[in-house]
Amino acid sequence: MVRVTCLGGVGTVTGSCYLVESVQGKRVLVDCGLFQGGKLMDERNYQYWGFDPKQIKTLFLTHAHIDHSGRIPKLVRDGFQGQIITSPPTAELCAIMLLDSAHIQEMDAEWQTRKNKRQARGSIEPLYTTEDAEAALKYFSPVERDRTIEPEPGIKARLRNAGHILGSSVLELWIEEDHGSIKLVFSGDLGKKNQLIVRDPHEVFDADYLFMESTYGDRLHRTLEASKVELKEAIDYAVSRRQKILIPAFAVERTQEILYILGEFNREGLLPDIPIYLDSPLAIKATKIFRNNKKYYDDEAMAIVDRGYDPFAMPNLRFTETTEQSIAINRNPDPAIVIAGNGMCTAGRIKHHLKHNLWREGASLVIVGFQAQGTTGRRIVDGAKHVKIFGENVAVRAKVFTIGGFSAHADQKDLLDWVANFESKPRVFLVHGEAGASEALGRKIRDLHGLEVHIPRWRERLILKPKEVIVEGPEEAEALPDFQAAMFNVIVDLENEIKALKKKVMARDRVGEEEVDRLRYLHEELKTIES
Ligand SMILES: [Zn+2]
Ligand SMILES: [Zn+2]
Repeated sequence: MVRVTCLGGVGTVTGSCYLVESVQGKRVLVDCGLFQGGKLMDERNYQYWGFDPKQIKTLFLTHAHIDHSGRIPKLVRDGFQGQIITSPPTAELCAIMLLDSAHIQEMDAEWQTRKNKRQARGSIEPLYTTEDAEAALKYFSPVERDRTIEPEPGIKARLRNAGHILGSSVLELWIEEDHGSIKLVFSGDLGKKNQLIVRDPHEVFDADYLFMESTYGDRLHRTLEASKVELKEAIDYAVSRRQKILIPAFAVERTQEILYILGEFNREGLLPDIPIYLDSPLAIKATKIFRNNKKYYDDEAMAIVDRGYDPFAMPNLRFTETTEQSIAINRNPDPAIVIAGNGMCTAGRIKHHLKHNLWREGASLVIVGFQAQGTTGRRIVDGAKHVKIFGENVAVRAKVFTIGGFSAHADQKDLLDWVANFESKPRVFLVHGEAGASEALGRKIRDLHGLEVHIPRWRERLILKPKEVIVEGPEEAEALPDFQAAMFNVIVDLENEIKALKKKVMARDRVGEEEVDRLRYLHEELKTIES
């Protein structure tokens, strides 16, 4: 019997974390990601782990993205002293990403503390600090993919290429039992076929239980070719109107894919003569790591290298490392391509560029990655007329190009093809997806492949026996966040505020135009939530 507790990355695409326990009492973790996307998700990062970090000797890490690795520094601070098994490029990428994440945590806490002080409240501790992140890096134990290892007696593992980002892996895990062993496969995030830079996902043929991502389980991506045409259109649209092209990008993989395509455009003479700014210290560091890891490139990327080019370089490309260089970009009114993080527009330099350009007619905003619920990027994609940036309502007048074909994720067809490789008819658990996506994929897997599918809830515990699964609900004390109750509370608060405001307005004879405007924005926001 193997017990798997789903501690994150279920019902959502963030916070990936699974506790696997064997009959002999061995406990290992698969991924330890950060929850992202709004206050309720953020609170989960501070809650009880669901296990004692001191007792975990092995953490398998599928890839470097923060939604899979972002709580590792906290895990170490809370007592983890085991080994973190992952591919060499993942270890290298985590070194820059965890330090960056720690920096963001520190800044957020500092900002919140300053805000609290003005309201005579206490200070806020960051989720973890730079020192915690540095300490965590010591526990990384890189292992090349395709090698079988036995990190603890009774537990065997092998990483396989997941084709999602540089170094990303699928995890094969064999847990020793009284009568043989049970094989679990964790897909991590899966890439799509013919993705740029990295090789296609490894095909796995057998598993008893498969934990598979379902981010785009309800969608088909456009082809890469169509997406390149759209990117070209977005560039031409803004250049002909003398405005900027903003590309909010995830620092790792997506940014390098965009650079790779811009490099192609440049070699084909398709790129207008305008500066291209990579305005993200993290993405600049990540690009250097990509350059140093050519042995993981696919054939097409290697062919570019063999022809004497750097796939991520072109003459007009400028790395803006300092804040001064970043600020200077918007002092110049001329057209430019600006690639800045973060990818969902919730933090980072992209917010400054949005504030300067989002309201400009003729500018292009190019969305090239998944936008989680509750993020600024998602609101823009969903058609908001205004979004809040640094406390200001900024009008969305730039043309928004949502280009799905650059996704580093498998789409519904890719996922169905990948699961079809399994000859052993595994029981499938769909994770790493919003409810609609997981459900749509689940129906397809049942209908087309006749596999049993279950979509776990947060903190659900699965008892896996050969050919039998028992599902236990989350414990009472670890209740799920109740969005409905939270929403209800906010509505009651709002009603009270409105009543108080009404009284004030009635008693006062002068109301400023700005106040009316702000209330109108609020009203509009309310209407969009309602619809
Ligand atoms: Zn990922
Ligand atoms: Zn992910």
